[in-house]
Amino acid sequence: MITCRKVYADIPFAHRQHKHDGHCSLIHGHNWTFALTFGCHERDENGFVIDFGKLRFIRNELESRFDHACVFAEDDPLRETIVQAAPEAFKVYVVPNCSSEGLCEHVFDWVDQEVRAQTEGRVFLVGVEVLEDQRNSAAYFPSQARQEAQ
Ligand SMILES: [Zn+2]
Repeated sequence: MITCRKVYADIPFAHRQHKHDGHCSLIHGHNWTFALTFGCHERDENGFVIDFGKLRFIRNELESRFDHACVFAEDDPLRETIVQAAPEAFKVYVVPNCSSEGLCEHVFDWVDQEVRAQTEGRVFLVGVEVLEDQRNSAAYFPSQARQEAQ
C-alpha cells in the first residue's frame, strides 16, 4: 500500500462532552485540525495516490459542517434547551459522539465513502487524526485495528 496525507488545519468550533465529570462538559472551543491518510495499491497517471486538487470537496465539506459550529453529541440531553434559548447564536452540528475519537470515526465514514466513489474504488481512506490543539489528538485507523486483532 502507498499512502499520502492531507492536513486541514485551523477550523475553529466548539463542543462539549456532556457525560464528562470535569470541565469538558462545559461548552468550549478548539482550533481543530483534521489529518487524513489516503491509500491505494496503484498510483494514478501522475504517480500520485490522489491528486490533492481533486480533494477540495473535503475542505469545503469540513468547513460547511464544522467551521464556527457548536458540535453536540446526539444524546446530549441539554442540546435542545441550549440551542432553543438563542438559536441565532448557534450553527449546530450533531454527531454520534463529539470527542476527538468520535469525530475521527465520523469524518472517516463519509470521506472514505466519497473518495472510493470518486476514484472508482482505487483510493480509500486509511485513517483520520483529529487534533484539538498541539497537545491533544486522537486517531482512527480501522484496518490496522482489524490486522492487530487477528
Ligand atoms: Zn474539547
